[in-house]
Parts: sequence; structure tokens; C-alpha cells
Amino acid sequence: MTQKTAAVRAIGLAKHYGSGDSRVVALAGVDVQFRRGEFTAIMGPSGSGKSTLMHCAAGLDQADEGRVWIGDTELTGLRDDALTQLRRDRVGFVFQAFNLLPSLTALENITLPFDLAGREPDRHTLDNVVRALNLQQRLHHRPGELSGGQQQRVACARALVTRPEVVFADEPTGALDSSASTELLGFLRRSVDTLGQTVAMVTHEPSAAAFADRVLFLKDGYLVDEIHAPTADGVLDRMKSFEKAVA
Ligand code: ADP
Ligand code: MG
Repeated sequence: MTQKTAAVRAIGLAKHYGSGDSRVVALAGVDVQFRRGEFTAIMGPSGSGKSTLMHCAAGLDQADEGRVWIGDTELTGLRDDALTQLRRDRVGFVFQAFNLLPSLTALENITLPFDLAGREPDRHTLDNVVRALNLQQRLHHRPGELSGGQQQRVACARALVTRPEVVFADEPTGALDSSASTELLGFLRRSVDTLGQTVAMVTHEPSAAAFADRVLFLKDGYLVDEIHAPTADGVLDRMKSFEKAVA
């Protein structure tokens, strides 16, 4: 049973902002699953609802309608403290702007989820993640002393070190140069292949989406298409076909 459960499942997710003339539909009713050990890219024009989908699926934000499960736990209706604990222990996040705490060292940032939970990190997992992200020489630096690529590797380490059921990454390479991007995407890919990590990543870049197992396309709050085993060219062609459909 557990084997067949998706890491994340959402049905009928709908959310709007504002009212009257300024009413914006961010999600128009989305059904989606992120299967265990699968790397999914989420694409779509700016404003199509990618971040809203990710935030609602991760329990960072609440949809107006619909239901969300992380593993067997339904998020809808969870009390605040239970939701906080679930986000801390069972979900990892990586944001475009890194979101590290500037006063903490890299190591302290990485182990923050454990400090908040009042638990000790698993040494073996911590060592493995630090080594995989090549951060051994940077652990005692503060974010201000690290390059963008290094900071995002620290953010990734923090997201992975709890062995979460899913990692959500919202444009994680948006602020990185191309070599740092490739390095980070390669790491996310390996976390899926070697640890069985489930990853859902928003990106604008066809070349980034090509690291994923499948690509979901959002438009105006709807899920409009899906590609399996994507290539950068295939993703680009599909994006062009949407633009033509609008023109
Ligand atoms: P994407 O990540 O695809 O660019 P978002 O999910 O951020 O899109 O936004 C979807 C729509 O909802 C957009 O029209 C955006 O302007 C609107 N929106 C998102 N967040 C807010 C907010 N806090 N207040 C008002 N409108 C918002
Ligand atoms: Mg966004």
C-alpha cells in the first residue's frame, strides 16, 4: 500500500487572489501527483500558477478548494502546529533566493531543521549530503562569504538532510550562472537516482527541465500538458506550440 502511495497528491486545487475587478485566479482546479523517487519539472509562463501550486502542495499556503496529501497525511484541516511539524520534518524547500540565515554558518544552516526540532542530525546522512554537495571546505563560512552556487548547495543540503518525503524547489537555478546551475541540477538528479528522493522543481529553462523525469506545463492556473523523459529541444518545441496557440 505504502509503495503505491504518491509522495504528494493533490486533487481539485483552486486558489484566487483579490476580488471584483482585481480578482486573479492563480489555480483553477489542478489534480497532480508526484510519485516517489521521481523528478518532476513544472513549467509555464510567468503568472501561470507555478509557485502557488508548489506552495499549496507543500503546505506553505492554503488553497481555497481541493485536498492535498503528503504520503498518507492529508494537509487539509491539519492544525497549525501539526502543519509546522510536517513541513519541518517531511518536506524540503529550495528557493531562488537561497533563504539562508546570514548569521549562521553553512553547517548551522544545514542542521537548522534538527535544531528547530530539538533533535540531533543523523551523522552519516549529514556527512553524505555535505560530501555529495562538495561543501566540506565551506562548513564554517557564513552565507555572505560564499558564492551564489555554494549558498544554493547549502540550501539543498538543508533541504535533503532530513531525508524528506519530497523536496520542492522554486526556480532553484534562477540566480545562478550556467556552470553553478548545471552542478546543482546534477546534484538534484543524483539525489533522485541514488537516494530515491522525490523532487518537484519549478523552472523557466528547457535545459533545466531536461534533468527531470517528466515536465508538467501550467497555463492560467490549469495543468495543460505533460512530457515524459524530456529533452531540452522537446520542451522548447512544446513551449513554442503553446505560444502559437495563443497568437
Ligand atoms: P508563477 O509562479 O507561475 O509566476 P504565481 O503562482 O506566483 O505564478 O502567481 C499566479 C497568479 O496569482 C499571478 O497572476 C499572480 O500575480 C497572482 N498572485 C500570486 N501571489 C499573489 C498574492 N500574494 N497576491 C495577489 N496576487 C497574487
Ligand atoms: Mg513563481
